[in-house]
Amino acid sequence: MNDINQKLDQQINERLDYWIGQLGRLCGQPSVSTQNWGITECADLVATMLEEQGYTAVIMPSGGHPVVYGEGDGRTTADGEAKTLLFYLHYDVQPPEPLDLWESPPFELTRRGDKFFARGVSDDKGHVITRLAALDAVRRVLGDLPCRVKFVIEGEEEIGSPHMPAFVVDHQEQLAADACIWEFGSVDAGGAPTQALGMRGICYVELTVETAVIDAHSGLGGSIFPNAAWRLVWALNTLKDQNERILIPGFYDNVVGPSARDLELLDKLPDHSAKMQEMYGLSGFVRGVTGGLALQRQAVFEPTCTICGITTGYQGPGLKTVLPAKASAKVDFRLVPDQSPEEIVSKLRAHLDAQGFSDVQVTYHGGGRPAKVDPDDPFVQIANETAVQVYGREPVIEPIIGGSGPNYPFIHVLGLPVVSAGIGYPGGQVHAPNENIRLEDFINGIRHTAYIIARFADG
Ligand SMILES: [Zn+2]
Repeated sequence: MNDINQKLDQQINERLDYWIGQLGRLCGQPSVSTQNWGITECADLVATMLEEQGYTAVIMPSGGHPVVYGEGDGRTTADGEAKTLLFYLHYDVQPPEPLDLWESPPFELTRRGDKFFARGVSDDKGHVITRLAALDAVRRVLGDLPCRVKFVIEGEEEIGSPHMPAFVVDHQEQLAADACIWEFGSVDAGGAPTQALGMRGICYVELTVETAVIDAHSGLGGSIFPNAAWRLVWALNTLKDQNERILIPGFYDNVVGPSARDLELLDKLPDHSAKMQEMYGLSGFVRGVTGGLALQRQAVFEPTCTICGITTGYQGPGLKTVLPAKASAKVDFRLVPDQSPEEIVSKLRAHLDAQGFSDVQVTYHGGGRPAKVDPDDPFVQIANETAVQVYGREPVIEPIIGGSGPNYPFIHVLGLPVVSAGIGYPGGQVHAPNENIRLEDFINGIRHTAYIIARFADG
């Protein structure tokens, strides 16, 4: 095995310039999903790049931006069966704005020292290239692919993957596999590889209330007109109490707490609480937790109700005595297993009605279910053991992370163990100006992916 790893390293090294060139080619094509900028061109380019590597590629409709689906045959075993590894990735990127903060053009891969800068160089085009480069190395060392591979490369991840769950459900047979490598992976601030085994779900809503057709003079209407801003504040006030308890009836009904194994993993995580407190200038954490397991647990296994923004009335300079006709708030709920966004929206609606707020409209802007993988799945073990071989240290294993992504259908519809492996690092400026990767992380991400592929076919 180590012999194979050495040969993989050698191939990765020899082909590095080629793959950096391919990274530049892919980053050079804008693909901003939220602005529908360059999407079809980028889907075409990704399909072309898959075909150039000997895979079949089709551009499939999803109901939104297209999905690039690819396949490659692997060596079959004596009984004619080949295992299948699925790669979930995305070709869309976040908008590059604000442009004046970029030190080099966002859609032109630029090297400065040992860092490469471009929009999408980490999230997620660098990962697309990492997978292709790893497969290339494996094929060169072993003669052919040791397993079948499938690629699902979507164009809507940065806008919440609204069509991915249905796409997976509709193409279950086509996407059938034995395991999946997710679109990301990174090292932490201390250089340790991280393994994220799950993600919280999300339910994003907008609450809107309209009490009149136009704003009014507050002297005229203040005593006799209903005020939209107050209606909204009162409605929001019924959602959560000051002990952070969410008051929507049934909200916690489907919450499944962390397992003993989850808690054991959480307890081993490095404690970044002091650093976080300093970085954000916090006076403390909610519910008075100070760090350690209590904070780790609350951070990822506790569902949330977050007011993301409130819009109403006048907030410009000076004063304006106005009575607002309209008020709205954007609210996101981060969900934990086994909550679902559909359930939360209907419970929220029923709650507002019961509280006398049937005039408050709820608009559902999207969401996804939480999901996590069994930490003791053999594929997770492969990912962890190969991480040690690449990084020379044990990975930091997170049973679930606070953020969200479309992993639910892959884990629960296709039934796959899903692991992360990749090229990110805390200074990567993902979603921000000057997004970047470090050369060393790029190489290690390719190595880790290649080692996993070689071991997966073995085991
Ligand atoms: Zn992203």
